Parts: sequence; C-alpha cells; structure tokens
Amino acid sequence: MNDKNFDFAISIPSKGSGGKTGLWRTKRPVINYDKCTRCRFCIIFCVENTIDEKENHLPEIDYDYCKGCGVCANVCPVNAIEMKDEAEV
Ligand code: SF4
Ligand code: SF4
Repeated sequence: MNDKNFDFAISIPSKGSGGKTGLWRTKRPVINYDKCTRCRFCIIFCVENTIDEKENHLPEIDYDYCKGCGVCANVCPVNAIEMKDEAEV
C-alpha cells in the first residue's frame, strides 16, 4: 500500500488575474477567419484565458488581456493566427 501523500498546485488561468496584461504586449495575434476551422485549440490553450468563443463558434481575442505570448499561434493546427508587431497594426 502506498502511504505517501502528494500535494498538487494547479494553476488555472483567469482573465484579468494579472491586471490588464495587454499592456505587456509587443506582438499581437491576429486571427485569419478564412482559415479558422473553429477547432477551439487556441481557446483551450490561451494562457490568459482571453480568447472567447463567439456565437458562431469563432474565437475572439480580448486585447485588453492578451499579452502576446504566441501560444495560440503555436497550437493552431492550420496556422490561422499570425503574430504581428504591435507597431504594424
Ligand atoms: S498571444 Fe494568444 S495565447 Fe497568448 S495571451 Fe494572447 S491570445 Fe492568449
Ligand atoms: S486554433 Fe486556429 S483553427 Fe482552431 S479555433 Fe483557434 S484560430 Fe481557429
């Protein structure tokens, strides 16, 4: 019998828990809705929980809280998210 006890710390992202993290951003993820397949990966993996699902099931990024980490662009299976320089958009 295993008598060891383990404690786990699980971090669950919540929008705004670190303030308006959009102020940190130097790169902006931009979704190409012509490519998006509505797979929801970006919504699930966003580290700030700042991608909402619209009524038509398309993702929508809340730029007040998106910090430009690029995780959403990396997990998108169809490369529908492009990280653009803030200065360009
Ligand atoms: S870059 Fe993408 S994953 Fe990162 S915070 Fe912004 S929307 Fe979320
Ligand atoms: S991961 Fe890409 S294809 Fe999937 S919902 Fe997000 S933008 Fe669309």
